[in-house]
Amino acid sequence: MQCRDAVISGGGPVGLMLALGLAQQGRAVTLVEALPEEKVDTEGSFDGRVLALTLGSQEVLERLEIWQALKPFVEPILHVHVSQQGYLGLTKIHAEELRVPALGFSVTARDLGRVLWQAVSAQKNIEVLRPAKVTYFQQEQGEVQVEIALAGEEEPIHQSAKLLVGADGTQSQVRKVLGLPIEEKAYHAYGIIAKIETEQPPQGWSFERFTEEGPVALLPMGGHANKAVLVCPEAKLETYMQMDDESYMAAFAEKMGERLGRFTKVSERVAYPLKESYVPQMTEGRAVLMGNASHTQHPVAAQGLNLGIRDIEVFLDGVQSEQDIGRPLLLETYAQKRREDHEKVMGMTDGLIQVFQHPSPIVGHLRGLGMMAIQAVPPLKKRFARFAMRGVQGGEI
Ligand SMILES: Cc1cc2nc3c(=O)[nH]c(=O)nc-3n(C[C@H](O)[C@H](O)[C@H](O)COP(=O)(O)OP(=O)(O)OC[C@H]3O[C@@H](n4cnc5c(N)ncnc54)[C@H](O)[C@@H]3O)c2cc1C
Repeated sequence: MQCRDAVISGGGPVGLMLALGLAQQGRAVTLVEALPEEKVDTEGSFDGRVLALTLGSQEVLERLEIWQALKPFVEPILHVHVSQQGYLGLTKIHAEELRVPALGFSVTARDLGRVLWQAVSAQKNIEVLRPAKVTYFQQEQGEVQVEIALAGEEEPIHQSAKLLVGADGTQSQVRKVLGLPIEEKAYHAYGIIAKIETEQPPQGWSFERFTEEGPVALLPMGGHANKAVLVCPEAKLETYMQMDDESYMAAFAEKMGERLGRFTKVSERVAYPLKESYVPQMTEGRAVLMGNASHTQHPVAAQGLNLGIRDIEVFLDGVQSEQDIGRPLLLETYAQKRREDHEKVMGMTDGLIQVFQHPSPIVGHLRGLGMMAIQAVPPLKKRFARFAMRGVQGGEI
């Protein structure tokens, strides 16, 4: 049996992008995805959620040669407006003042998934097994023996590879087999996502407003449409989910304000529990965890996939001129390079929630002062924006 360069467990955005990058380096890759094709955009992470991707992520998508196919479906984010309900202080960041074409882009996960799967299917170096699951593996001298259960088949199939990647999400089976400890935090809160239309088109404006119950956000989606995110405590979920369209738009307007005129139409609402998890040790032997399998975070700062895309970028650079891409020392070097970015982004996202959900009025005014300071001191604002766009590669914060 021929030894593959890599078996990737998980065909979410991170698994698919990594498979493309490795295939472009001429590697033989097997991609194993648990969901059948017809369920990918309803039950998986390629559902109707709208993703904000940073400029740094766009550059990686260009390098993977999928940006051109994705471009018709993306909407540029040109201005970001951050404020807090009930207190003074706001921050505005504009692409123009940072001399970049856009601060980021919004795209539906469904469109991203379609484009990625098309590119993967066209790649001869990638063997796709789905619906199938990586169930078990064993590390041997110089390779990993991977057991894969194909749906409808009684007997599992076995593949050997130089490298096994767990890109199989928060409940990663690869992590479980490795027995790596996971640090988990539940926020006892939900993010409710909907598509909402406004009287005026957003024209590249994105808004985030912190309220005592949690943040609300609007992201441009093209025309008069916006992605609307409302974070609420667990105890309030039913109240929001049972509201009819008119009441929901009124509740959203009360928190966000009508910055783009009246809210005129809202889609069905979908709720996601907000959790954070982190696996400090992301590699062992010839196995490595990437994307949500190694770090899952609250979507408030829209950094989850962006962080995963930076994982891919650093990994591809690190293995570029290597023959054996699963060499344990190589994976250790990769892990060391990624640790700081993971910990800073996770810390910043968690810190934002702690600071903005603190009920004390004094903390509220301090938050306002902080935002005004960021607004008034351009280098600080630029550093903050660069960090959000490119992580630690964009500059210290
Ligand atoms: C509401 C919401 C909004 C978000 N907004 C943003 C945003 O604006 N910007 C941003 O950067 N991020 C955002 N995120 C985060 C982003 O969706 C995730 O970071 C991203 O989906 C992670 O990709 P992944 O490929 O690592 O994992 P996943 O998307 O979880 O994919 C894992 C894949 O592995 C498969 N799988 C599982 N077990 C196995 C197995 N044993 N064998 C084979 N396959 C398996 C699953 O079916 C799945 O397809 C948001 C998340 C949510 C919930």
